[in-house]
Amino acid sequence: MRANPTNDRKLQRLNATQPQRPWSSLSEERHCLVCENDFCGGDVVIRRSGVRLACPHCGSGPKFWVRSGNPLTDAHVWADWEIAIALAQEPEDEDEMQTAG
Ligand SMILES: [Zn+2]
Repeated sequence: MRANPTNDRKLQRLNATQPQRPWSSLSEERHCLVCENDFCGGDVVIRRSGVRLACPHCGSGPKFWVRSGNPLTDAHVWADWEIAIALAQEPEDEDEMQTAG
């Protein structure tokens, strides 16, 4: 089966713009740091005769996109870190302090 030439061109455009985070296909997803939405390569908006790529939700450019599932953008991961930091700030009990010291 032959791939759609328009899709091939779009995938080439995505990879030319984001060589650091290459796209394997147009179904691959990215997370927009500006609007916090996920979208796939096929949804990316190409503006100004193919020069500028834009998030389909807010119009931000590729420098604000990260791979979906990035732990730094996951609310549950942030909640875990906040708990760990809060616990680390609590005074240690005496048994732990004697063992550590
Ligand atoms: Zn966006």
